[in-house]
Amino acid sequence: MGDGMIRAMALDGRARVVAARTTETVERLRAIHEPSPTVTAALGRVATGALLLAAALEKVTGREPMLTVEIDGGGPAGRLLATASPSGWVRATVANPGATAPPRPDGKLDVAAVVGTEGSLVVTRDPGIGEPYRGVVPLVSGEIARDLAYYLSESEQVPSAVALGVHVLPENRVEHAGGYLVQLLPGVGDDEAAALAARVAELGAVTPRMREGEGPQAWLERLFPGGIEILERVPVRFHCGCSRDRVERALKLLGAGEVRSLLEQSRTEPVALTCEFCRTAYTVPPEDLRRLLAEIEEETGTDAGVPAN
Ligand SMILES: [Zn+2]
Repeated sequence: MGDGMIRAMALDGRARVVAARTTETVERLRAIHEPSPTVTAALGRVATGALLLAAALEKVTGREPMLTVEIDGGGPAGRLLATASPSGWVRATVANPGATAPPRPDGKLDVAAVVGTEGSLVVTRDPGIGEPYRGVVPLVSGEIARDLAYYLSESEQVPSAVALGVHVLPENRVEHAGGYLVQLLPGVGDDEAAALAARVAELGAVTPRMREGEGPQAWLERLFPGGIEILERVPVRFHCGCSRDRVERALKLLGAGEVRSLLEQSRTEPVALTCEFCRTAYTVPPEDLRRLLAEIEEETGTDAGVPAN
């Protein structure tokens, strides 16, 4: 069974649900960023959460819709950021992959201790047409699933349940990762909501279920014994999408001053730039920096001169 997510409806169309298995994808993130086990769990939860939230974006023709989850909790891991699309790709990065924290008293990885609990959760929905929509809430737990549920309930006014799990083996390899999101639409009564909350509690953490061989569809069937209507199955994978061309465009966005200062620092040496999402290194030789500088100045109409080396 490979990574994938299931989008479904339940309660006769009054509950929107998505569940995902992200084991290989989170293991790929671990291999790229080489984080500590606790940061692996944090990064995997943020990436899985971004995928679950992205699944609800409408697919449009033209530019691909995307959703970014950014968490800055003031903890030693620093900023965590993941971007995902409803087509099932995700990429993620963390400021300090090596951050560690002692395990919790129950022996589990203490995600909140590396993420921090004093800060914010920012969700940016880029629908692919028009302007991106950005919502911000304070962190409530630092464990990420509860923070995302709080965001959806407070900022988007949709009562939601979110479960996220990443099980990291002692040798720091991802054994299981996944999660689910349930959103209650108007028309769900208090009794139904309470019954669902009881089944969420009964289902418990997802990674022990995965170890027993249960996947996303089984979780949804447990949560909704009345049945689910599967809308779509989407394969999930890591994908960055960076390229030499995009690096040059990003450099141009930095502006003439920044590019000129890079050129002055590098002199005759190429500048090395590493993609923060996939760690691909791009080297930009001075002649390309000079060309970019000339292009910026042509586009902005400045004539400050291009330094020669
Ligand atoms: Zn990249």
